[in-house]
Amino acid sequence: MEQINLFHLSKHQLAESYEKGKELKKEYVSENIIKILSNPKHEIIVNFPVTLEDGTLQIFKGYRIQHSNLLGPYKGGLRFHPMVHLDECKALAFWMTIKCSLAGLPLGGAKGGIKFNPKEYSQENLKRISKGFSKALYKYIGPKRDIPAPDMGTNAQIMDWMTASCKAVNKDHDKSMFTGKTLMYGGSKGRNEATGRGVMICAREWFKSKNKDTNGKTFIIQGFGNVGSNAAHLLTSELGMKCLGIGDHTGYIFSRDGLSIPDLLKYQEEYKSIEGYDVNNIEKLTKQDFFQVQTDVVIPAALELQILSEEAKTLNCSVVIEGANGPLDLEADKILKDRNIDIVPDVLANSGGVIVSYYEWLQNNRMEYWSYKDVVSRLDEKMSSTFNKVDKYSTDNNITKRVASYLLAIKNLDYAYQV
Ligand code: NAD
Repeated sequence: MEQINLFHLSKHQLAESYEKGKELKKEYVSENIIKILSNPKHEIIVNFPVTLEDGTLQIFKGYRIQHSNLLGPYKGGLRFHPMVHLDECKALAFWMTIKCSLAGLPLGGAKGGIKFNPKEYSQENLKRISKGFSKALYKYIGPKRDIPAPDMGTNAQIMDWMTASCKAVNKDHDKSMFTGKTLMYGGSKGRNEATGRGVMICAREWFKSKNKDTNGKTFIIQGFGNVGSNAAHLLTSELGMKCLGIGDHTGYIFSRDGLSIPDLLKYQEEYKSIEGYDVNNIEKLTKQDFFQVQTDVVIPAALELQILSEEAKTLNCSVVIEGANGPLDLEADKILKDRNIDIVPDVLANSGGVIVSYYEWLQNNRMEYWSYKDVVSRLDEKMSSTFNKVDKYSTDNNITKRVASYLLAIKNLDYAYQV
């Protein structure tokens, strides 16, 4: 099968939204903004050397795509993964522009990463690679220019290392050029769980919009990393939902009685995956069977392009909440629409992370530390109001939530371009 290009997918979504906007007439946005958003402003590629623990020198390829700064400094994650490539970063950076605009943040969109497998390197080597990358990017990033954050394969520790190496070059105390740092190094309370919490808020608001209680409702989730594990924890503990299945890079597990998330969190902490987890009533599934489980909600929270036409034809749920970026291709999107399966799109569903990253940046710049309660209540207010705005706009205009999200976001960007 031909490999789907993520950047083409994002451009199709943009073009489709523009056409829908034209049909709606009153929602017309200028064609120029579509041309501008169709390509990133800067594509930065760095090949940087790192001396590893054993004394050998290795060259790493790193990317930073700065898509748009119409609304503020570029903002977006850094990914460490063997599949990282230019077009993937371009799509992810574009989605960050849409995400920040939709959430009303004074930030633009960016994304980047290094093409390598972090699981094959020691902690000491990861530290050297992270510091080497941030030094290589140093002149392109900064608190008012471009603010990176964690994504797949990176975490708070890595953000601390990168911040420290930039601070050493800058010779100052400003830590706001990275977000998603540890609490000991200027991070924000609530940041680690923020994307998962945002997914939970979307689920809660979605059920509310259908006048349904969440208690006892079921979900399956692909990905049990930062987004997936936090979402699973909050959906079960705060909404009383039941998790029927979980998948990660090692396989898929299912239990009709519901999986114990506290148990799985402990297991994941120790073994770094769900591989080998085995208690009563657990079945192992293939990916294909996993995406056929009858459930209320399906949450892809792993990689992009995981639900294609084959999976979309057999999904057995009422709604898909996109924790991951770009988990569906165009065909799957269309099939689900025809099958009346609702989609809460990535640019809305996984925006909790960048919202709390913005709060972290604000706290660093104001020399403040907010309480966990404060962060959580601000995030809740922001996410639920954005969800409801998108829901109303999509209902009023008879368009999907993805198109509604795009049109709302593009309108802000169009204004900023023309003003
Ligand atoms: P992570 O590295 O913490 O976890 C990724 C999870 O996906 C792991 O459980 C891994 O086992 C699983 N996985 C990897 N390859 C897989 C495969 N082939 N099949 C099934 N499962 C697989 O990453 P994360 O930070 O949780 O990010 C997950 C997704 O959410 C990505 O698309 C990311 O861009 C998006 N996202 C993350 C954040 C954030 O704050 N971390 C914010 C917005 C969006």
